[in-house]
Amino acid sequence: MSVNQPAHTGPPYGRPQPGYQGYQQPAYGGQPLPGVPQLQYGAYNGPMPGYQQPPPPQGYFPSLGFPSKGSPVSLNSDTSSLAPNFIGSLRAPSTSGASLPSDHLTYSPFGQGDVQNGIPTSAAPMQRPPASQPYLPGSASMPVTQTPTFQQYGPPPASVQQLSNHMAGMTIGTVAASAAPPAGLGYGAPRPPTMPGPPLPGQTAPVPPASQPNHVFSPPPPTSMSGPQPGPPMSSLHGPPPPTHPPQPGYQMQQNGSFGQVRGPQPNYGAAYPGAPNYGRQPGPPPPPKRLDPDSIPSPIQVIEDDRNNCGSEPFVTGVRGQVPPLVTTDFLVKDQGNASPRYIRCTSYNIPCTSDMAKQSQVPLAAVIKPLATLRPEETLPYLVDHGESGPVRCNRCKAYMCPFMQFIEGGRRFQCCFCSCVTEVPPHYFQHLDHTGKRVDFYDRPELSLGSYEFLATVDYCKNNKFPSPPAFIFMIDVSYNAVKSGLVRLICEELKSLLDYLPREGNMEESAIRVGFVTYNKVLHFYNVKSSLAQPQMMVVSDVADMFVPLLDGFLVNVNESRTVIASLLDQIPEMFADTRETETVFAPVIQAGLEALKAAECAGKLFIFHTSLPIAEAPGKLKNRDDKKLINTDKEKTLFQPQTSFYNNLAKDCVTQGCCVDLFLFPNQYLDVATLGVVTYQTGGSIYKYAYFQLETDQDRFLNDLRRDVQKEVGFDAVMRVRTSTGIRATDFFGAFYMSNTTDVEMAGLDCDKTITVEFKHDDKLSEDSGALLQCALLYTSCTGQRRLRIHNLSLNCCTQLADLYRNCETDTLINYLAKYAYRGVLSSPVKTVRDALISQCAQILACYRKNCASPSSAGQLILPECMKLLPVYLNCVLKSDVLQPGLEVTTDDRAYIRQLVTSMDVAETNVFFYPRLLPLTKADVDSDSLPAAIRNSEERLSKGDIYLLENGLNIFVWVGVNVQQGLIQNLFGVSSFSQISNGLSTLPVLENPFSKKVRSIIDMLQMQRSRYMKLIIVKQEDKLEMLFKHFLVEDKSLSGGASYVDFLCHMHKEIRQLLS
Ligand SMILES: [Zn+2]
Repeated sequence: MSVNQPAHTGPPYGRPQPGYQGYQQPAYGGQPLPGVPQLQYGAYNGPMPGYQQPPPPQGYFPSLGFPSKGSPVSLNSDTSSLAPNFIGSLRAPSTSGASLPSDHLTYSPFGQGDVQNGIPTSAAPMQRPPASQPYLPGSASMPVTQTPTFQQYGPPPASVQQLSNHMAGMTIGTVAASAAPPAGLGYGAPRPPTMPGPPLPGQTAPVPPASQPNHVFSPPPPTSMSGPQPGPPMSSLHGPPPPTHPPQPGYQMQQNGSFGQVRGPQPNYGAAYPGAPNYGRQPGPPPPPKRLDPDSIPSPIQVIEDDRNNCGSEPFVTGVRGQVPPLVTTDFLVKDQGNASPRYIRCTSYNIPCTSDMAKQSQVPLAAVIKPLATLRPEETLPYLVDHGESGPVRCNRCKAYMCPFMQFIEGGRRFQCCFCSCVTEVPPHYFQHLDHTGKRVDFYDRPELSLGSYEFLATVDYCKNNKFPSPPAFIFMIDVSYNAVKSGLVRLICEELKSLLDYLPREGNMEESAIRVGFVTYNKVLHFYNVKSSLAQPQMMVVSDVADMFVPLLDGFLVNVNESRTVIASLLDQIPEMFADTRETETVFAPVIQAGLEALKAAECAGKLFIFHTSLPIAEAPGKLKNRDDKKLINTDKEKTLFQPQTSFYNNLAKDCVTQGCCVDLFLFPNQYLDVATLGVVTYQTGGSIYKYAYFQLETDQDRFLNDLRRDVQKEVGFDAVMRVRTSTGIRATDFFGAFYMSNTTDVEMAGLDCDKTITVEFKHDDKLSEDSGALLQCALLYTSCTGQRRLRIHNLSLNCCTQLADLYRNCETDTLINYLAKYAYRGVLSSPVKTVRDALISQCAQILACYRKNCASPSSAGQLILPECMKLLPVYLNCVLKSDVLQPGLEVTTDDRAYIRQLVTSMDVAETNVFFYPRLLPLTKADVDSDSLPAAIRNSEERLSKGDIYLLENGLNIFVWVGVNVQQGLIQNLFGVSSFSQISNGLSTLPVLENPFSKKVRSIIDMLQMQRSRYMKLIIVKQEDKLEMLFKHFLVEDKSLSGGASYVDFLCHMHKEIRQLLS
């Protein structure tokens, strides 16, 4: 009995694919395509409106096209017993098709090559990255005032007093000097208009004018350390001299100063953060606080603004090795010229230390944040699909790396030398091409795999499970129909939405309809399967009450084509809410639901995704039954980690089975109380799925958010049955992986599903020396099944520089990516270590990173100065945000489920998402220009930046707060809320009224724009100043001290300085 509705119609590989009409096949007979310009092979399919952007809500209007069903319901509504048409004996054939581990062997049988050799230098131009060259003087020189309680390190109180007098009222920037600070160079000041862009290579301009009396140029200081020596090695970098390296003029002046105003005696840290035991303890009331001027310490807003001004106008061209891309907060266009776009891969550093000793000394983690299916901007070109014919993609014989721009052709083009392992491989006859006088193949520009950083290969049957081309995937919708789900209106909402949403299943190119089949299950303590075969007049229900040993009671008619079964499906979706309208069943099962979906996919021999809509802790008698084990008393104890661990290993085993089948599980949770996200999320997490959580779901306030999330989740680009392997050139090796996936060995990252929002962070370690000449290479290969059922390989290549000078490492770092890695590292750490240990380790590592810079790269200066590398000057503020986040230091209102949920979310976030999640964006709405499309300039996340007369918006990727000051003009309140005074704005408002005036339109358009930018629809919360909800809002003002004990930015910076000094002494 076959359950495959459409027979698999995978075209013979090797033939041009109809769906990729734009792409000129690169003639695997070996003939070049004379005169074919690069542009001629267009995108293999057009940008898909469905997933280029979050789906606009329009277009999903109620199912006008569905015929209404007047015939009587043939479904049995008795939910607790077997339906008359139960066909339980019709057990699905045992599909031991669960693939063996060896199935993946053809994909990546080899580990790293062990021959040392380099990368062809010709392929790796060594130009200094202009984007990475801060042209402002690099090191922030920040003498930190100390209190008498820091007896060991701090200057005597008298000198503090002196300092405060000396520096009172002064803004100190990176080069601000006491007497005559160069205009515009402070952190808080705008860039000088005369320096619109980064310096050109060789340009020595990025220093203030020499006429400034206190700007003394000196050569890089000889370092007393074992680290870098100034001199010849630098000459290999074809770029401007390192601006951060020479002692910055003005620093000398600051040695006597503090950074910023000293407002009074500084409190002891312990006293300042009662909730942070690791900062020391000092009983008794703190002395009145004196503090540093927040304006004088590095500002995230300024760094973001500066990068936008410097990098936003020009496209980022990826032809240069080791080039640091613009920040994630900068809107820029990418042009692929041989390296993967930063939308696909970002690194903590684009210049890797040559030796493991250097790397250890710096403590800078070497990691890449990879988003293999990232959505590009509409103007950017999707990866081309390349077909190398029946023998499959051309690969290195030894390490199996895929053909890429860094492979070097030799012997007239008959062989190529691998850029990863140096092994020489014969060029297959059909792939042969002559070389030009520079040694480049003459078809270089005709072949994406020779000239681009990212592209796809059509995989042959060798890359498929059981040597069989896959069937198109299936989506199974599994709806909790217990009492809570029905009463909240959720069941009706889901069914209503699915009627129209099913027309928007993922498809490619010009496909008229999606190849994805769909199936439906409802459940409470038992499961109800539905036969929606097109030939039926009415859907049929089959109930399985034996949840202990789950099976699928029907094969034919369960997974169907939407168009063919349209009438039956519509009828079913109409009937489900009615059938369960009077249910009294409150208990649910959970694991059997996943098992049912898994069995259905197994029977259909396809991969797919389960969309599970679930409301409560599964306490009904069944496998995977859970108990309520929430215990807030465990917080801050050694047992806190158990709150993040699953309460049973049952789900880990289930996850493994799901991954084997390519069954990805997306979970939509609607809890009214604890439902153990840490356990329920295990399968989702390990199968590459997504969790969405809507606590205390209410139709009026939450339905928009849920529906938008659901629409995007159903429509977004997703690859199934995916395996990712990261290869590296000799000398470094991928050693650790973070993200939502499963690993059955140490190298292959397996994901039942991988969507365009999911990110995998990969850490690298040295296993040998690297060379500055050859640099280092990464190749990420993702094997997956597309939504059409086509097996493909997506390849991303990235070349990095290597350095023998620590200063080069620090100059080419990216703090946002570093924070992404550190957060994921810490969030994984809480599973096995006490949270305090994790926090201390984070602080210690960052202190070591900064101390190493200070010791080896910064000019000699007094110990009272805090000197930060230019590229890392935000490390302290961002690190503090990670430390204060709810996972590592929960806020008062945060539940155990929230923490587990956030922990899982962050683990799959890309760099842009972690950036705004940890340091939210705060926009003064009342400063918005209603006549322009632009956003108002963001401000720093601190209460003291807020004015009572203004309205602000804060977003972090999950929530949008609109904060209204008590003194906001009545006119503005009228325009935005449609009421005449502040007091009339209702508490807990979650929408803005649609009003026809410029201010209302502007604010709503800003919110819409932000919603479009994020992968999840954010919850809107209106907060009135001095209302009790304001506490929630203030939790996100991350530069301030938090109620749960998190340090303020200023205090944390002082603490970091203390740590650094301790390391240096
Ligand atoms: Zn190789």
